[in-house]
Amino acid sequence: MPDRNNTTAALQVVNLRKRFGQLEVIKGLSLTANQGDVISILGSSGSGKSTLLRCLNFLEPPNEGEIWIGGRQIQARAGATGQREINALRINLGMVFQTFNLWLHKTVLENIVEAPIHVLGLNKAEAHLRAEELLLKVGLADKRHAYPSQLSGGQQQRIAIARALAMEPEILLFDEPTSALDPELVGEVLKVIRALADESRTMLIVTHELNFARQVSNRIVFLHEGQIEEEGPPDAFFTNPSSPRVRQFLSSQR
Ligand code: ADP
Ligand code: MG
Repeated sequence: MPDRNNTTAALQVVNLRKRFGQLEVIKGLSLTANQGDVISILGSSGSGKSTLLRCLNFLEPPNEGEIWIGGRQIQARAGATGQREINALRINLGMVFQTFNLWLHKTVLENIVEAPIHVLGLNKAEAHLRAEELLLKVGLADKRHAYPSQLSGGQQQRIAIARALAMEPEILLFDEPTSALDPELVGEVLKVIRALADESRTMLIVTHELNFARQVSNRIVFLHEGQIEEEGPPDAFFTNPSSPRVRQFLSSQR
């Protein structure tokens, strides 16, 4: 039974369930991320990885279960109070998507300052200062006035990461951040994520990059049909998994 008084946990998910019609996709899943944890979430296509991340920030409302952020339960109900809870939740959970989801008609800088100004209420000067620092961090200061269409996929994803960081979230969620990229662009994005891990940021990373997951994570979680099939430290997970499903998955990826 998860410790519900674990106020030190950055994120606690208790018995989460999500259905689409008759299809139950997340089947009573519990997971705790402590401050500074980098958890890679692995699993076959359709195992529920994206749905899990989307439930965490209520892009998909869960059907059952509890979500705790920093010891506080998210009470997302219908109506204005619920929406305020969800907005506060989304500030705390930065999400980076497979397909970047940048605003195409806005420049790089405009993409990054939009939410800090309109959601956090930063003034323009503060927001721009923060954006410039983040552009340096992801190595794209020279692209501040470019539009997304003028950037490579790897550059767009680094901007999407900067945009997520601009909200100063407690936790970062990555959903296959390199899956849409040409192979030669994967490394530059992984490098940025690795630097965030080195800063001890709390992160959940859905990925198929197994070597990366092994190097960057302190825990691996393997999903199968909406449940955790196996979890553990990377070395044990990759060298000596107990689940036959995990063994099969790992050998199919080599
Ligand atoms: P993964 O990210 O691990 O590939 P997903 O979370 O995307 O898996 O999907 C898990 C299952 O839920 C799949 O069977 C998928 O078809 C189904 N699913 C996901 N989103 C929806 C949706 N909006 N409506 C109906 N079914 C969905
Ligand atoms: Mg997915």
